Amino acid sequence: MKSWLDRIYESCPVALQNALVSLYGRRIFRQRFGPGFDSATELLKSLERAPLDSIREYQNERLRKIVEHAYATVPYYGRRWRSAGVGPDDIRAIDDLEKLPVLTRQEVIDNREDLVSTAADRGQLRLATTSGTTGYPVSVYWDRGVTVMNNACLWRARSWGGAGFGRPYATLMGREIVPRRQTEPPYWRYNSTWNQLLLSSYHLDEETAPLYVDRMREAGVDMLEAYPSAAYLLARYMEMRSLTLPLRSVLTSSEPLLPVQRALIESRFECRVMDAYGQAERVAFASECERHEGLHIFEGYGIVELLDDDLEPVPEGGAGQIVATGLHNMAMPLIRYATGDGAVLARERCSCGRALRLLTGITGKAEDIVVTPGGRMIPGPLLSYALKGISGVVRSQLVQERPETLTVRLVVNEDFLPRDEDLIRKGLTERLGDEVTLRFDYVSEIELSGRAKYRWIISSVPLRWGELSTSNLYEGGEAD
Ligand SMILES: [Zn+2]
Repeated sequence: MKSWLDRIYESCPVALQNALVSLYGRRIFRQRFGPGFDSATELLKSLERAPLDSIREYQNERLRKIVEHAYATVPYYGRRWRSAGVGPDDIRAIDDLEKLPVLTRQEVIDNREDLVSTAADRGQLRLATTSGTTGYPVSVYWDRGVTVMNNACLWRARSWGGAGFGRPYATLMGREIVPRRQTEPPYWRYNSTWNQLLLSSYHLDEETAPLYVDRMREAGVDMLEAYPSAAYLLARYMEMRSLTLPLRSVLTSSEPLLPVQRALIESRFECRVMDAYGQAERVAFASECERHEGLHIFEGYGIVELLDDDLEPVPEGGAGQIVATGLHNMAMPLIRYATGDGAVLARERCSCGRALRLLTGITGKAEDIVVTPGGRMIPGPLLSYALKGISGVVRSQLVQERPETLTVRLVVNEDFLPRDEDLIRKGLTERLGDEVTLRFDYVSEIELSGRAKYRWIISSVPLRWGELSTSNLYEGGEAD
């Protein structure tokens, strides 16, 4: 549903929309770069180079603080922890976290107001909602502290990719910045406060893509921030038109980045993709560094645990669910929050020298994973190899409603050959086994889900984290 503000915005001329976008940018700027931004950045910088012991010391101190605060001022934790027989004195360090119950998404949905600290100034809070691709959106209140800290993490990660605030960059994400009924360019608006070119995801196609590229070139953009699927689509159209646009970096987040997407984006923009991970619940943040060996956990932002189905920690090298404790949202602290995202904790440290641990292979939500009748779990990125090199496929999507069948939805162009279906079938069967029957469905379009996000895999089959297949996940695999 559109608000009256959205409707007014849509009816304004483009020049006024640009002014409004810049004005809005100024307001957001005050929130995100407010008091504490510089010290948050300094903290992140010092933790990057600190030994693991010092990082743990910082986390333990913040943990004690947030647990005491939660126990004393958040009604839900007071009740829940008392009935579990634990109090703040029992939680002195990370190793004590296991004494506390895990907080589920459903608990947050059912008890949202009871999870807000009585000490919070309600007028200062912002209610944020997850995109709801799971069908169960969660709403969380952010206070200023977590807003500033999240932004500090974002810009710290961007700096690893050579980007700095103030330099022109482009954004291709879900916000409906250009009214959908508009059928003539410009398909972008300019936020002069941030030097940010906001590109519309909804108007991008083979015809308009060259205009996007020209505009980015003209604006002197050297960084693109995008959903992996959106950047990939732009790169795909650029490939069709033999276009390239050299950038310093492309920053992706919000969806699992598939290896095929990374490869094409990097070739068209002649730079590396920097993938990052976060969530509206603001409990964990991770990003690739310039070495691209995995995603560094921002340990100063939240405490990340990887747990199996029995809620036991998985050893390094193992796969589990990300359960995280945010260290900065005092208004609505989420402690041991089960994100529903799967990942692997790397055995090795990154060659860049940062002590921050690495996650390799963040698989995304449970519905991004295909499950075989035998219970094997195959993450989407692994299956994406089956489509690698098939140039006639414009878009694809795998839909699984029952373990025995998988529907392959394809949008194809004139380059698609009859034998391509056999190649895809062969590639998928190699990874899934014969027990899954494949069905091909040729469609003219694949609709986007909430906030223009694109899900490559849609599965409603329940799964078990312990059986996650991780071989070759991010190493590139044999097909690379
Ligand atoms: Zn690194």
